[in-house]
Amino acid sequence: MIRLTQIRKSFGRNEVLKGIDLTVSKGEVVAILGPSGSGKTTLLRCINYLERPSGGQIEIGDLRLECKHPSKKEIHRLRGKSAMVFQQYNLFKHKTAVENVMEGLVVVQKVPKEEARKRSVELLEKVGLGAKLDAYPSQLSGGQQQRVGIARALALNPEVILFDEPTSALDPELVGEVLAVIRKIAKEGITMIIVTHEMNFAQEVANRVVFMDQGAVVEEGAPNELFRSPKEERTRQFLQRMT
Ligand code: ATP
Repeated sequence: MIRLTQIRKSFGRNEVLKGIDLTVSKGEVVAILGPSGSGKTTLLRCINYLERPSGGQIEIGDLRLECKHPSKKEIHRLRGKSAMVFQQYNLFKHKTAVENVMEGLVVVQKVPKEEARKRSVELLEKVGLGAKLDAYPSQLSGGQQQRVGIARALALNPEVILFDEPTSALDPELVGEVLAVIRKIAKEGITMIIVTHEMNFAQEVANRVVFMDQGAVVEEGAPNELFRSPKEERTRQFLQRMT
């Protein structure tokens, strides 16, 4: 389980997260929606300390971290519990698909190379890239690169996968293949938090939708409820603009 309590983050005088509370159960898929600049990406990045929160508490599984005074060891442990799928894929350009997936296993988790390769091949097959194991990122389409990114996240066997607008850098015709892979792994009961602008996808794949605006959670609920009858005016206006 993941529990965020009163997460705050400021950049200089700009308070971007104003005390976020969010609980995600094991196996749950939560979609985070909200206008540009509302703090969605910053929140995801705080969960694995790519950004250091200014205050609050993060609990993942058996780890509970006070954001004001974490030790290096706690930050290291926290990072090991989540994996991020980035908007821009962030693959190593000089490494092949399979080497990209292996990297975290070998370097971070100290898995022997042979075993890491075997697991990476299986995961690339799972995301439909069994024929592209030795291709470099430049030889792959955006959709294929993102699928490598998803395989890389899965390889780490994290407690939660954090998706930061995983399809927003893709040409429209490539969005479907990436969403199909996310849909498939969602069915396997992997805990996921997905920041997305894909409303239909959020409605279909998420167990719960969280609407953020101006650094705060405005409203959350089951997709059907939130999309059909939002309680808050701000949510209603946002949904109207998006559809
Ligand atoms: P989008 O949907 O456009 O990606 P978002 O909801 O994910 O937006 P964030 O990217 O989290 O929003 O940004 C929230 C605010 O934080 C913005 O005002 C942004 O300018 C600011 N911000 C984000 N990262 C930094 C940074 N490294 N330094 C300074 N300000 C930042």
